[in-house]
Amino acid sequence: MDRVCATGTNSKLTSRLHSCYLHRICARQSKITPMKILIVEDEPKTGDYLKQGLVEAGFVVDLVRDGHDGLHQALTETYELAILDVMLPGLDGWSVLAGIRKAGRETPVLFLSARDQVDDRVKGLELGADDYLVKPFAFSELLARVRTLLRRGAKSSAAEFLRAADLELDLLRRRVSRAGRRIDLTAKEFALLELLLRRQGEVLPRSLIASQVWDMNFDSDTNVIEVAMRRLRAKLDDNFEPKLIRTVRGMGYVLENPDCA
Ligand code: CA
Repeated sequence: MDRVCATGTNSKLTSRLHSCYLHRICARQSKITPMKILIVEDEPKTGDYLKQGLVEAGFVVDLVRDGHDGLHQALTETYELAILDVMLPGLDGWSVLAGIRKAGRETPVLFLSARDQVDDRVKGLELGADDYLVKPFAFSELLARVRTLLRRGAKSSAAEFLRAADLELDLLRRRVSRAGRRIDLTAKEFALLELLLRRQGEVLPRSLIASQVWDMNFDSDTNVIEVAMRRLRAKLDDNFEPKLIRTVRGMGYVLENPDCA
């Protein structure tokens, strides 16, 4: 699941909308769904102070006080952001971050550390931290950084996935899955599906597909599009319901998202 849209109380309507055009929905849904933040901080005063401040700023906050709980929480819930202390009982902040990334989660991570040492910063950033704040800090500075990271996360997740019903295309990892099952596509099939998903609901003429995917002028003698389309449909639609790709006779092809119909 993506990070921005998946949280909280999904009504039937929002989950329906969710599988439509993601980038539009993200903007809409982030206004009505509170963003969830995980804090992993063992120092009671700091943890409580952070939690209270972020709750007052309108976030939903989970606070845990050791590294093992932090990692468990980060992997079982969906958060828009994790704030990790470096020195933690059980598992240090770096190991928590490494565990999060190893599990394939891209949750933005902001490190808090009492130790203002270049090595720490470098280590944190190398491990995939998104920002680093040295204690003591002003809450206003933390809040500003949190908001920056959340904006960045919202942008990147909007650009990372294209979806229709239970079909998901991951642009960064170049992966496609339907109903959670991985589907292997050739480079051309991937490009073809990307085009269909970006313009779902629109009937795409063969000439447009030819120029966008094959970078060629449409030649009615060639059946390269038909062949590729047939293969793509065999992979995406043969073993699944509902069928998503449809031929519109004499016109072209359309990918129809049943949730947006
Ligand atoms: Ca600590």
